[in-house]
Amino acid sequence: MPEGDTIFRTARALGRALAGKPITGFRSTFPLLTRFDDDTPLLGQLVDQVESRGKWLLIHFSEGATLATHMLMNGSWHIYRHGERWQQPRINMRIVIENSEYVAIGFRVPVARMHSDLSLARDVKIPLPVIDVLSSEFDAQAAVRRVMARGVEEIADVLLHQNVLAGVGNVFKSEICFVTRIHPFCLVASLAREQVAEMIACAQRLIVANVLEDSGDGIVTYGGRKRRTTHESDPGASLWVYGRKGEACRRCGELIRRRLQGPDARVTYWCPRCQTMPDGADIDG
Ligand SMILES: [Zn+2]
Repeated sequence: MPEGDTIFRTARALGRALAGKPITGFRSTFPLLTRFDDDTPLLGQLVDQVESRGKWLLIHFSEGATLATHMLMNGSWHIYRHGERWQQPRINMRIVIENSEYVAIGFRVPVARMHSDLSLARDVKIPLPVIDVLSSEFDAQAAVRRVMARGVEEIADVLLHQNVLAGVGNVFKSEICFVTRIHPFCLVASLAREQVAEMIACAQRLIVANVLEDSGDGIVTYGGRKRRTTHESDPGASLWVYGRKGEACRRCGELIRRRLQGPDARVTYWCPRCQTMPDGADIDG
């Protein structure tokens, strides 16, 4: 699943291709979107802005409507020049937005809705900017309070709740715990407020670093290797622990562990020596 940094980069690229330019074409396989377009044609409207909210991508149009899409596991947006060959089969096309220069295509986008300002504000699934670690409006202190309120849950799982902290995905979850030396399976109640605050600050720092202009497409949290290793086959090459089960910890040499966690059985990686449980007990990986 794409993490918040991926959606942010997609929004930035789409914004550059679409914002401020009149729409010259719109097509979709979603009946509700084409019906909306029949009633309120997008043709001739401008794209005002493209923004990411956690894992949602919002395209704002000049007459007030907003197209909200979620990529789930397989969806993606591509940008092509007219006449350029698409990198996915036509049958995967779900949404097309064109202007005089570019064709933006949402492939296999599973969730797409057209919103008014009012319905957007009421859609509780789309996080507000104050919750999004990549938003300039992000409120870190409020995020600490939301995490602390979930005392009986395991910290790494809480980091994934999109209404607690939007933008953190499964890779960053393990990396944040390692960098702050917190055991991913420890209960929030066993952490001090300062530790949670440090984790939130770490989340913001790591994820923001991954949307800088030169940050490339892969996630990088471990600086030991050069950034932008092009098409690195090992996803763990630029990470501290994620994807590194059985490999030596980059800090202490202990073997990295892996275990499924939480109600959704998401995979978690950690170092048993660098990240100890508060009561000294350990969990087998
Ligand atoms: Zn270690």
